[in-house]
Amino acid sequence: MTGRSPRSLQNYEPSIWEQIIGNRKVKRYFQKLVRRIRREADAGSSRALRHACFLLTGESRSGKTAAVKFLVRCIKCHRLDPVTLNPCDGTCANCRDRVGSEEQHGLFESVKTPDGQTEIHFHIIDCTKISTPAELIEKLRAIGHKVNTSGYVVVYLDEAHRLVARHMDEILLKEVEDHHYLWFFSTAKPEGLEDMFQNRLIKLATELPADDEMAPWLIDRCNEAGIDWEPEAILRVIDKSNRVVGIALQALTLAALDPDEGLTLDLVENDWVVKLDS
Ligand SMILES: [Zn+2]
Repeated sequence: MTGRSPRSLQNYEPSIWEQIIGNRKVKRYFQKLVRRIRREADAGSSRALRHACFLLTGESRSGKTAAVKFLVRCIKCHRLDPVTLNPCDGTCANCRDRVGSEEQHGLFESVKTPDGQTEIHFHIIDCTKISTPAELIEKLRAIGHKVNTSGYVVVYLDEAHRLVARHMDEILLKEVEDHHYLWFFSTAKPEGLEDMFQNRLIKLATELPADDEMAPWLIDRCNEAGIDWEPEAILRVIDKSNRVVGIALQALTLAALDPDEGLTLDLVENDWVVKLDS
């Protein structure tokens, strides 16, 4: 078995809905979105849902970005299971061409739904990399230029609270009104956003997984990566990460450096340093 590299563990992406743990509400509404968009795209509906705005709130590294990327994958997979809504095993043309590696800051090629008519454009904007209103306007303009009006446009702005500086959230509010995109914003600090901005968005809060949901999930990730693990170490990772999946995966990344020694209680307790959000 070939283990995953430490980097892919840290940027873990679910391949089926069951691999998104906790987050029941987010999953429920994202599945509704997948159903609706695919139904409309297949029917070529003129009353398609093209304009909606969501704000995902919850701790950093609690899986917001992974959930949005997975949503987009389900929308565009050529062989989505109509019952479970799970995408294919990664071999269809659209799943093979995986969007969203961290090196590409934002703009991706458009993809097509199975009927070959509706384009889906997916753009990620990392708000930590935007420091001036001009940069933000430039990014949004670039999206506008690429877009064919008959398609779906999904724009995801990660760490949206970073835009409050220099009133960039006001610029965004206007963009949200003017452009019929599916907007997703994520933030760990919703209180930093203007009320006006918050009130314009449909808010969905991420939910941390339960201990008994997280333990088998961590064991699966260890097994996938070929890392040995001790049961006590798994429990300590859950405890020390405060059940934040992205934090917990850091311990596995550390363990993956020496898969034979693996995830030991000693590593989790003494070597792995965690700094949690206050
Ligand atoms: Zn697929």
